[in-house]
Amino acid sequence: MVDLQLEVVAIGGYEEVGRNMTAVNVDGEIIIFDMGLKLDRVLIHEDTDISKMHSLNLIEMGVIPDDTVMKNIEGEVKAIVVSHGHLDHIGAITKLAHRYNAPIIGTPYTIELIKREILSEKKFDVRNPLVTLNAKESIDLTPNLTLEFINITHSIPDSVLPVLHTPYGAIVYGNDFKFDNFPVVGERPDYRAIKKLGKQGVLCMISESTRVDFEGKTPSEKVASDLLKNDLLGADNQSNAVIVTTFSSHIARIKSATEIAEKMGRIPLLIGRSMVKYCGIAEDIGIVKFPENTRMTGDPSAVDRIFRQIMKEGKENYLLIVTGHQGEDGAVLSRMVTDKTPFKFEKYDQVVFSADVIPNPMNAAQRYMLEARLKRLGVRIFKGAHVSGHASKEDHRDMIRWVNPEHIIPSHGDFNLTTAYAKLTEEEGYRLGEDVHLLRNGQSLKFERII
Ligand SMILES: [Zn+2]
Repeated sequence: MVDLQLEVVAIGGYEEVGRNMTAVNVDGEIIIFDMGLKLDRVLIHEDTDISKMHSLNLIEMGVIPDDTVMKNIEGEVKAIVVSHGHLDHIGAITKLAHRYNAPIIGTPYTIELIKREILSEKKFDVRNPLVTLNAKESIDLTPNLTLEFINITHSIPDSVLPVLHTPYGAIVYGNDFKFDNFPVVGERPDYRAIKKLGKQGVLCMISESTRVDFEGKTPSEKVASDLLKNDLLGADNQSNAVIVTTFSSHIARIKSATEIAEKMGRIPLLIGRSMVKYCGIAEDIGIVKFPENTRMTGDPSAVDRIFRQIMKEGKENYLLIVTGHQGEDGAVLSRMVTDKTPFKFEKYDQVVFSADVIPNPMNAAQRYMLEARLKRLGVRIFKGAHVSGHASKEDHRDMIRWVNPEHIIPSHGDFNLTTAYAKLTEEEGYRLGEDVHLLRNGQSLKFERII
């Protein structure tokens, strides 16, 4: 007799870094984890405004997860649970969530970002109730299923490790995380709660594998802050423009830059639409407090005004924190260097890239072009003030040993990454095909225990 009906459905993110979506079906009650975009697919089709596009076209383009597999899954979706606010985890909500009669559950910062996404959506009317759940809290989803949010660190605030407690053991959704013991924003990971899971019994852990091929442990955000300090306070830049570019959602990094601005005697100025969105929300809900004199400007005419003011008053009075670290067309830094704003670069101005180049040929080309243009103007380029937001191999090993799951499913990576993760699990005594499972998008894994 079979006494267990539990199925994990890999919908997106199992063949790529991006468009994450997983469903867990427990006796006909389905919980969905994440609904994300694959960002480079959006760039390939660059002239398309995805806010007006239909889900099926976007599925065909590979931009969002192909959730048509859900038609074959028997059961009712009870909740859509989101782990954190990165677009590869929430960016497809506006295209897919309306098909499910279920609430969307996330931490306060994540839910605020989802609200903005829904406001800018032009094709679908997303009316799913939005429910906030704080880290360290639990909520009963059904009489049989409880959701727990464990505090974790990553490269965006309010990230959690969602855990679904079922009558058959817990399901841990480990997308995305790092173990940062000196976070600049938020608290350290809740190691106690993670270790407690391992003692209670975890049936299955789904884990990201984005950076499992890096040996050792991912450095803390404190290290990135010190590197940034070194670049900004250590260079001879007193009479020049100083510009930092990083991810708009990386609130900790931006906080560090604004605090260093204070030490430099400069006014921190956050420029770019997405910079204002992510930082504005973070400040509004009390996640971060930027220095009193910090200014934010997003809308293009206001950006032009502020650049005119900077050119008039002297660039040396400001630290500019701008979008465009990948060289994206239309982002502030690209516009500045191609004379599409009143800002004028001069020899010895300083640009600090506080972000890695996202490893795909398109980003590499755009970034190459941006750097070449800056160099032609005599701008000094600084790189390397960055640490990853993803766990490295030894972090993953700790996670596996603490959580001690019966089964593991690697996700959030291409074949190379998920197999590298599988190899690590074999070092920890697991065996591929027995208790470690490599799933492709659209495949599912049924757990059956015979008594
Ligand atoms: Zn992430």
